[in-house]
Amino acid sequence: MRILENKTAIITGGSKGIGRGIVEKFASEGCDIAFTYLSSESSADEVEKKAIKSGVKVKKYRSDASSFEESNQLIEDVINDFGSYDILINNAGITRDNLLLRMDEESWKKVIDINLNSCFNLTKSAVKEFMKKKDGAIINISSIVGVKGNAGQSNYSASKAGINGFTKSIALELGSRNIRCNAIAPGFIETDMTSKGDGKLLEDWIESIPLKRAGNVDDVANLCAYLASDQASYITGQIIKVDGGLVT
Ligand code: NAP
Repeated sequence: MRILENKTAIITGGSKGIGRGIVEKFASEGCDIAFTYLSSESSADEVEKKAIKSGVKVKKYRSDASSFEESNQLIEDVINDFGSYDILINNAGITRDNLLLRMDEESWKKVIDINLNSCFNLTKSAVKEFMKKKDGAIINISSIVGVKGNAGQSNYSASKAGINGFTKSIALELGSRNIRCNAIAPGFIETDMTSKGDGKLLEDWIESIPLKRAGNVDDVANLCAYLASDQASYITGQIIKVDGGLVT
């Protein structure tokens, strides 16, 4: 049984990494997909072509998740193209790491804008349709860094802690309308975002993970598909870690 059959999902940042993994998993589970990208046009093309092969409808949209206007427009476009939608995955995110003493204001604001304000922009625009249907699943991609903090990532950590608070509040506000909102907090997942790090530092970090390996995009995408499906219909307001046991 394909657990997302007859559903439509909006996924931000589907051109690469975890977002791409979520697009591929959702397509294999029978879900129609509208996904966004910002700069990786050719990669988005590739993702679209591959996912369509699962026999579902897939369309890519260039849309900046940090823009409230573009997020509103995206929702309008998806309704025109797909009729409706059932699932929103707020995945788009960036890092601009630095110690506080060296961090400039632009790095702070950009990370908050793309990681946290994007969740407000998309969720605010998308919930009207969920409220009409009295049904909807929102999944925000957070991070364990939003739970435990990390030196050199105060901007990123603040954005992800903000997502956790936002997730719980939306779950409380909209539960009575049968709209669920959960967050996934990945640990160290191998993607472009994590490939820039210092090799020795990464090795040490992996050694400290109880399961002794980095995560892959499927580890996150599998949980995402479950949370988006009707199998998780009594789960809301949760921040679920996918981190090999790193933060217990
Ligand atoms: P990634 O490989 O760098 O991919 C980031 C994705 O976000 C790309 O598709 C990118 O699209 C998109 N994006 C960036 N800015 C955007 C914007 N303003 N509007 C729309 N899309 C935008 O990163 P990743 O590792 O897959 O991370 C995905 C999410 O997981 C992020 O929220 C990240 O914080 C979270 N996370 C990752 C890890 C990890 O270890 N990798 C751990 C915890 C949490 P373009 O390339 O087209 O611009």
